[in-house]
Amino acid sequence: MAINIAIDGPAGAGKSSTAKLAAKALGYIYVDTGALYRTVGLYSIRKGIDTRDAEKVIATLPDIRVELKFVDGSQHVFLNGEDVSEAIRTPEASMGASNVSAIPKVREFLFELQRSIAAENNCIMDGRDIGTVVLPNADVKIFLTASPEERAKRRYKEMIEKGQEADYDEILSDINKRDYQDSHREIAPLKQAEDAVLFDNGNYNLESGAEELLRIIREQLKK
Ligand code: C5P
Repeated sequence: MAINIAIDGPAGAGKSSTAKLAAKALGYIYVDTGALYRTVGLYSIRKGIDTRDAEKVIATLPDIRVELKFVDGSQHVFLNGEDVSEAIRTPEASMGASNVSAIPKVREFLFELQRSIAAENNCIMDGRDIGTVVLPNADVKIFLTASPEERAKRRYKEMIEKGQEADYDEILSDINKRDYQDSHREIAPLKQAEDAVLFDNGNYNLESGAEELLRIIREQLKK
């Protein structure tokens, strides 16, 4: 049986970067499920559809084929055969993802893909509802968080480093808006699973955060 580690938490807490390092150290694949919602959002955005319009978004689903491939342990997401791993990383796609992820049919659409990857691979899977909905029987569950300000600071730095334009206040307000939306939606809201270990990543840098995450995972796996 594959070993599954579920990591949930709000946007920008450092889930993906720390989980990636931890997965590498464990020899597991790292699955970023946010990329799936981003891909569905991107398709609507490209078609000029309002991502809050559930009916129209649902109507696009039969035209969408989402696939994940792992190249040297790193995840690539494909939309109808096109590698959109970079294209989904814009602020627009972030908000689009948050919007479409509140639509139950979209969550259903992506559910099986997440389940089958977890069934076939030792993995660290990160998202919002992995420990609560997608993998309720995960071997380890972690809720990884950090304050909104700390998260905004990180995202700002990340974007500047990538040569993208960035505005701290805008990023912070986006984070607060997405947090609110993600934790107040009716379906699969962002919340800590009862049996998840809380990890506040705010005071760690990337390496020490990944080490702490690994320590927690190894300790939990022994139980
Ligand atoms: O993790 P990331 O920020 O890329 O996720 C983008 C959006 O997708 C989140 O704001 C959230 O609304 C949604 N999401 C979700 N469930 C997941 C992963 C992401 O609803 N498992």
